[in-house]
Amino acid sequence: MKNIYFTPGPSQLYPTFLKHLKNALDTDLGSISHRGEKFQEIFFLAQKNLRQLMNIPKDVHIFFLSSSLESMERIIENCVGRYSFHLVNGAFSKKFYDIAYELGKYTERIISKDGHGFDADHLSVPVKSEIICVTQNETSTGVQIPESYIHKLHQRFPKKLIAVDIVSSAPYPQIDYSKVDISFFSVQKGFGMPAGLGVLTVNERALEKAKYLTKKGINIGSFHSFPALLEKEIKGQTPETPNTIFIYLLGKICEDMLKKGIDKIRNETEQKAKMVYDFFDRHEVFHPFVKDKEFRSKTSIVIDTGVKTDVLHKELVKQGLILGRGYGDYKMSQIRIANFPVHSIGDFKTMLKAFDKLARS
Ligand SMILES: *Cc1c(COP(=O)(O)O)cnc(C)c1O
Repeated sequence: MKNIYFTPGPSQLYPTFLKHLKNALDTDLGSISHRGEKFQEIFFLAQKNLRQLMNIPKDVHIFFLSSSLESMERIIENCVGRYSFHLVNGAFSKKFYDIAYELGKYTERIISKDGHGFDADHLSVPVKSEIICVTQNETSTGVQIPESYIHKLHQRFPKKLIAVDIVSSAPYPQIDYSKVDISFFSVQKGFGMPAGLGVLTVNERALEKAKYLTKKGINIGSFHSFPALLEKEIKGQTPETPNTIFIYLLGKICEDMLKKGIDKIRNETEQKAKMVYDFFDRHEVFHPFVKDKEFRSKTSIVIDTGVKTDVLHKELVKQGLILGRGYGDYKMSQIRIANFPVHSIGDFKTMLKAFDKLARS
């Protein structure tokens, strides 16, 4: 029996992953130079497919980094002279805040209770903040901030940079890149790959900020500063020796997703999310952690499973269904269910059926 991983990253691998990996090895991608023409093609193809899939405009730069925590650090270094502001509603948004603090910035934040969102109309942001950092899908609590809220932040605070963590939701959310300056994600969540590659999008405004900070004598980092990344990006390269095979695989998986169609992927994501929320809204014992439907994540769903959590988790593992455990303090009282493009409607039916059986046994 093969396992199905519903874990929120790393997760189930995309069905075509192995085929593309074999092809990568057969064509020597582990050995080719990252300064040659072949690499350039791989780099530009991955960018092109990402742009098409996620509607990223041509004038927005796409950089390849090592992970999303790295992206957070680069964003703070390159876009914040002194003051950053963070919407914190779980462990990952807090991490973004902590990174800014550890880099010596003056950090401020608004904290929402676990399982809750924010009020975009009445949110107050300190005047001095240079950037607003938002976690669009907070994987630890299963709270998703609607895209329209994030776009509203830009309308309300047009001078401030907006950075959005879409790590555990991409490619699902529909980001308007005229209202978001920076976005980032990792490949081990919605893209069905092993961990080891981060993607960061940066617009002109964010690049200008990095250059301005340099002029003011502020340290924006070294080989992965925005200007250093840009200098190589133009040539279809990266500053360091990159993970060529992963950049290739990401390009290929985006191509497969484009063939399937992003609208279809989004529709299925919504269908599967509805299946899970309907099931647990009606369940006698287990319930969705996020009560406000507007803030319920489509891509990482958190269920309160109480004292039975550990037994439940182990029973499902026996059936080859690997669910995520609750994050941090919730480890023994919640489960998390990833709903990524790799997961089929059939997979979800199987998983919910298993829950049904367990409840009756
Ligand atoms: C997983 C995750 C991260 C961290 O990604 P890494 O690739 O481990 O650096 C950041 N933000 C969110 C919302 C995540 O789910």
